[in-house]
Amino acid sequence: MRLTRYLLPVTKETPADAQIVSHKLMLRAGLVRQTAAGIYAWLPLGLRVLRNIEQIVREEQDRAGAVELLMPTVQSADLWRQSGRYDAYGPEMLRFVDRHEREMLYGPTNEEMITQLFSEAARSYRDLPRTLYHIQWKFRDERRPRFGVMRGREFLMKDAYSFDMDEEGLKESYEAMFVAYLRTFARLGLQAVPVRAPTGPIGGNLSHEFHILADTGESAVFYDAAIEEVTREELLSADASTIARLTGLYAMEEEEHAKVTDCPVSADRLRTRRGIEVGHIFAFGTKYSDSMGLSVQGKDGNQVRPHMGSYGIGVSRLIGAIIEASHDDNGIIWPESVAPFRVGLINMRVDDAACTEACDMLYRELQAADVETLYDDRDERGGAKFATMDVIGLPWQLIVGPKGLAKGVVELKHRATGEREELSVESALARLT
Ligand code: ATP
Ligand code: MG
Ligand code: MG
Ligand code: MG
Repeated sequence: MRLTRYLLPVTKETPADAQIVSHKLMLRAGLVRQTAAGIYAWLPLGLRVLRNIEQIVREEQDRAGAVELLMPTVQSADLWRQSGRYDAYGPEMLRFVDRHEREMLYGPTNEEMITQLFSEAARSYRDLPRTLYHIQWKFRDERRPRFGVMRGREFLMKDAYSFDMDEEGLKESYEAMFVAYLRTFARLGLQAVPVRAPTGPIGGNLSHEFHILADTGESAVFYDAAIEEVTREELLSADASTIARLTGLYAMEEEEHAKVTDCPVSADRLRTRRGIEVGHIFAFGTKYSDSMGLSVQGKDGNQVRPHMGSYGIGVSRLIGAIIEASHDDNGIIWPESVAPFRVGLINMRVDDAACTEACDMLYRELQAADVETLYDDRDERGGAKFATMDVIGLPWQLIVGPKGLAKGVVELKHRATGEREELSVESALARLT
């Protein structure tokens, strides 16, 4: 992509309304723009990151055996009356009426709808177990939307729902999602701590939240220091034993921790950090199959209420969490797995024929090799170009100037370490392709 053809409103000024670093950097790097309180437009660069995160989430859901579908954002109030949640949900639900005076709402979550869809499709035990998911916009009329996309009103969530014949099956589905979550967050370059959570208004019996440890988290997490010793490799190859080990280690959100009278972790092993909730999984049994009237025929011919779970990931919130975990004074440092482009190609002198010719050639070669490249071909000073590349945080910067070219070299800068290296054009290409 040529920057002269792109929409990238990068700013030097720190936006006054942004309180935390990820929100500041998302605005400065031209990833999003707020269009109303807690509602954001995703600009081209931000959309690329969002899509990359979404894709990793999708791959891990698929790997866990979940099946993707897509449910609408607008739902009918009647559906929610069946479960009793229409009145229970409160002011976080955005409600409206259509031209026929039918009460509608913008979905904050999809338990009711998926249960209805599944009950229309599933007849017998042969149709179970199933886990279905979608990645769709949600709306919650948060009392205090803040921190940019971290607590938006409109936000992108992956939500999965599992259906099993019995509690034992539900436990297996829950564990499969638990593994998918550990792998997803590890692939995003994040260390997520699974925290035993109260089940809250969704109800049920087993629930874990996944928190990214960061100073700007909205709640405090208390945990056993041993959790910090779990490596990325272990998380990427997680299985039932990893879950057993992790859930065996103490980790609680502050409110729950406060209720614990006899903490099993000694004071010198107990750590506390702020946490950002990026995922939440629930096993709630037959709550919705009971209220929505879902049943299937069991092996013995009797009708059975499926046991269900629901599993959310805050896809758009994750962008903020990743930036909180990975930035420096100059801007964002994207992990390779989600970077909007892999390489930023900087033409230091667009008015220099040799320089532009070399850049055009590099751009063509990188594109031919499928290396996602953002080509700064603007007529701007070098300093401004460096600042832009640093703030948007692409993993590699390839810098081409007339002086270097005269010696036959270009410069390759690694954003994360700041290391710079002079290389011939050919070896620079070889390194990036
Ligand atoms: P929070 O405690 O932050 O309000 P929640 O517990 O209400 O979140 P869940 O119902 O568990 O949220 O939804 C699943 C996931 O959706 C959360 O773990 C979080 O990552 C994400 N999420 C929830 N609310 C928002 C929001 N307002 N903006 C962005 N992401 C959100
Ligand atoms: Mg909430
Ligand atoms: Mg929560
Ligand atoms: Mg939650």
